Amino acid sequence: RAKHDGRNNYAFYTESLTQESVAKLKLQSALHDALELNALHLVYQPKLSFKTGNVVGFEALLRWTDPVLGSISPAVFIPLAEKIGLIQDIGRWVLRKACEQGVRWHNLGLSFGRIAVNVAGQQLQRSSFVDEVAEILQQTGLPASCLELEVTESCMMSDPLLVSQDLAKLGQMGVELSIDDFGTGYSSLSYLKKLPIHKLKIDQSFVAGLPLDTHNTAIAKAIIAMGHALNLQVVAEGVETQEQVDFLTANSCDDAQGYFYSQPQPAENLTDFLS
Ligand code: C2E
Ligand code: MG
Ligand code: MG
Ligand code: MG
Repeated sequence: RAKHDGRNNYAFYTESLTQESVAKLKLQSALHDALELNALHLVYQPKLSFKTGNVVGFEALLRWTDPVLGSISPAVFIPLAEKIGLIQDIGRWVLRKACEQGVRWHNLGLSFGRIAVNVAGQQLQRSSFVDEVAEILQQTGLPASCLELEVTESCMMSDPLLVSQDLAKLGQMGVELSIDDFGTGYSSLSYLKKLPIHKLKIDQSFVAGLPLDTHNTAIAKAIIAMGHALNLQVVAEGVETQEQVDFLTANSCDDAQGYFYSQPQPAENLTDFLS
């Protein structure tokens, strides 16, 4: 009987695995076409200062709507793009589009602080990354002081020396650097003081339970205190409620980002926020 069940399970798994691989292949080939089909676009989410309530910047977030498959989450297609070697092209496209948007806002007389762009580990590991950023800034005309790059802990740990040299060059150009999803990756805290980083973004999984979850309150407080002790600004992501705002304000968190203030939106919808 056990044997029988086992065979059934085996049959079941192979079938679903096959379906899964077919779905994956479809997704891969669709992603290959996404850039040419104009199927990618950016939305922007404001970041605000807790102290002043002013907008201090926007994070550019990538969206993909495939004509057949519909809209697919970046949590799914970014890792896929990394896996199939498309992240360089996509990442460069995102950076260029975000810089162009910044220039468009400037031309409209709107001041937006900084535009933040997410950078994948593989982009950062390329020796040409700094040059690519410099080239895009130069070609689009966006001042480096209007750009922020968000990198994760894990993408810095693969080759800390090389990455910290590159980040230092970007910092010298005037680009601001943030550690995204802080607290969820594997990183050695000793790197925090060595890396030329300006900000920590508390991961939204820690913001979620504030102020009732005792673990998350402890973690959020500790990140804010440590960040400030290291002269870093601390940003909370995923802020959804007034209670979270109150807790984070009381604990001197610097900036906020989340649905409480605004969903990520197409640039055209954000002129109100900017004026
Ligand atoms: P992330 O960089 O940590 O971005 C924050 C994510 O939280 C975004 O999800 C955003 O829409 C979502 N979010 C913002 N406010 C709230 C809130 O109040 N509550 C909740 N529950 N979520 C909120 P999104 O846009 O789905 O992006 C997911 C991840 O995909 C990003 O996380 C980032 O790691 C990656 N990603 C997105 N765009 C790009 C890109 O252009 N390049 C790279 N390399 N990665 C990207
Ligand atoms: Mg981010
Ligand atoms: Mg984040
Ligand atoms: Mg996150």
